[in-house]
Amino acid sequence: MAKGDHLFDCYAPPPLEFTRGDGAYLYTHKGERYLDFIAGISVMAFGHSHPKMVQTVQEQSEKLWHLSNLFRIPGQHDLANKYCEALPWAGKVFFTNSGAEALECAMKTARRYHFSKGTPERIDILSFQGAFHGRTHATINATGNAKYLEGFGPALPGYVHLPYNDHEALKEAISETTAAILVEPVQGEGGLRPLPEACLRGLRELCDEHGILLIYDEVQCGAGRTGKLFAYEWACGPDGLGGHPDIVAAAKGMGGGFPLGACIASEKAAAGMVPGTHGSTYGGNPLAMAVGNTAFDLMHEDGFFDNVTKVSNFLKQQFEALKDEFPDVVDELRGKGLLCGMKLKKPAKDVKNLALANGLLAGTAGDNVLRLAPPLIITEEHVREAIDILRISFEAARKMDDFEA
Ligand SMILES: *Cc1c(COP(=O)(O)O)cnc(C)c1O
Repeated sequence: MAKGDHLFDCYAPPPLEFTRGDGAYLYTHKGERYLDFIAGISVMAFGHSHPKMVQTVQEQSEKLWHLSNLFRIPGQHDLANKYCEALPWAGKVFFTNSGAEALECAMKTARRYHFSKGTPERIDILSFQGAFHGRTHATINATGNAKYLEGFGPALPGYVHLPYNDHEALKEAISETTAAILVEPVQGEGGLRPLPEACLRGLRELCDEHGILLIYDEVQCGAGRTGKLFAYEWACGPDGLGGHPDIVAAAKGMGGGFPLGACIASEKAAAGMVPGTHGSTYGGNPLAMAVGNTAFDLMHEDGFFDNVTKVSNFLKQQFEALKDEFPDVVDELRGKGLLCGMKLKKPAKDVKNLALANGLLAGTAGDNVLRLAPPLIITEEHVREAIDILRISFEAARKMDDFEA
């Protein structure tokens, strides 16, 4: 008897195989071209096969791949310096291989902070409805989504889930066992909802008032995706402070396709993370650090963030025109910068598949949202091409039944 497929049945990809990528395009083995507006879920910030990224991997791969953290890795110091120089509040960095690991480190750091201050009872992480923080055991508990928790044993203590954007509920939930508030400045999986800038500043004040830590999950919305290094920076003054966190978890775009994440903390917040408290075999290895340094430098080249802002404004105008043209398909626009999309009145999954059939790769999110997260190097020409394909797809979607998330 045939044994069938040997992969865990966790994914159900379409019958399509890409063999090559170039900039904002992916190609199948038959040479069919697709415009990639999902970019490996907000990862391929510089597009596919960026020459400087390719060169970095080639050069570093001939020198040194991996050492483990038993030895000093200069690339870690270089990259940590870059992030801490860019972020005035930041003082310490731990490198990981993924977003979930960056969040594990962030939450451990917050609990250790209180432990080392003599208040070990402060363990609760407060998070919000619609959040997504990863798929490890701790991060599904922080996420709190019943769908991700079902069948994995009892929910862990120390995680408190609150309604989204309910200030009173949040104030009431803060107690003598609270360690930190954990939030995405722009919810990704939850449906591309940006938290108002005033809310981020309010969270900062609330945390200071109660002596608790503010953790931002910028795994999806960070690394330049909204036109600044981190999305929360839109809420800060010219000094980079005001809506700033004590800890930020980053990954996805910061490695431009190489598995790389970071937990970035203030000196104060990281005070409890002394030798022996945390570790990673692969985290921050020389190959990852070479790529991370190149990615950081590319993001900080002249005009990179400006392009994100300019192109995303253009994309938003085009979305507004589509919404006017298809009031029966588009419900509302969502997102910030190049993490953007539309809540639809037709099934977002079906519309995504229509776009795919017409040569555009998109994603879905949250409450029936069509999600776009293109490479950050796209031009207005790419946007026009995407909009043309969306228009064709919406024409077809028009004939489908309405859908309520
Ligand atoms: C993707 C994502 C994660 C998890 O990152 P992994 O690299 O898949 O572990 C965590 N938080 C947010 C906001 C994400 O989008």
